[in-house]
Amino acid sequence: MGIAVTTPESVQSQSNHEDAEVVYCGGAFRPVADARVSVLDHGLLYGDGVFEGIRAYNGRVFKLDRHIERLVDSAKAIRLALPLAPQAIADLVVETCRRNGLVDGYIRLLVTRGAGLLGIDPRSCTEPNVIVIARPIPSFYAEGARARGATLVTSMLRRPSPDALPPSIKSLNYLNNVLARIEATDAGADEALLLDAQGFVAEATADNIFILTGDGCFTPPTTAALKGITRETVIEIARDLDVSVAESRFTLHDLWTAREVWMCGTGAEIVPIRSIDGRVIGTGAIGPLTARIIDAYHARVRREGTPIR
Ligand code: PMP
Repeated sequence: MGIAVTTPESVQSQSNHEDAEVVYCGGAFRPVADARVSVLDHGLLYGDGVFEGIRAYNGRVFKLDRHIERLVDSAKAIRLALPLAPQAIADLVVETCRRNGLVDGYIRLLVTRGAGLLGIDPRSCTEPNVIVIARPIPSFYAEGARARGATLVTSMLRRPSPDALPPSIKSLNYLNNVLARIEATDAGADEALLLDAQGFVAEATADNIFILTGDGCFTPPTTAALKGITRETVIEIARDLDVSVAESRFTLHDLWTAREVWMCGTGAEIVPIRSIDGRVIGTGAIGPLTARIIDAYHARVRREGTPIR
């Protein structure tokens, strides 16, 4: 039985706070039932927009500044003029959390191109729409299936190369990832792994990937993978643990024969990988370094962040 690795969405349905839920949309805070976007919004018509997935733990928003910086970079890359200053967007995120009484939760911040003409030219879209959704979810730390590790299959699709659609842009266009995720489900696996255009390992559908081999710890460069904020945090944690991590291209062979493999992302946190394409990783149990990184990550997210109150 597969585990839902990117679980914020799946846990939302268990939430019973929808009645009182308030979201920021169209320039105001509104009950979720009244928050609407136009059918002419190019975010809907073309996936033209940018977003961030952010987590709050213990009443604090983890690495909020980094998420705002990345949103600003994504917006710059797609030539979207943000309608608010970065600090004002950060304040909106915190305020949305506060209004929803968030302690532990998942925050979706997005900026769509806004409503315009039906053609693809974004010049007809004059009012980008900033949306903030903040929902309670628990941390998945020590959750049974995660502790057992996830299974991966390699997707037949490749991550777009930086000269096609730079994967550093966290855009609303996620079909490459969605199609790979469907392949994983079809194969009975928890997640899909995507290679880059040259056949080197890139990332999972919503998570970056790390391996520990006899030569050290490696993560792919961000030429064909998102500049993940959890990835940054894992590199910081590894350095604190005196484990050096090199950014380096590696192959499926390196991955299949690694001692330990884990993937990481804001939603999924740190997920040990049990098998890839039917090859058991290490002993099949969670590796000692993975376990230390998981513990350090969970200690850190509880300690740090922008206070909600
Ligand atoms: N890669 C992709 C394609 C993603 O969508 C994400 C975000 N879920 C990640 C990696 C991980 O990034 P972060 O750690 O910033 O959440």
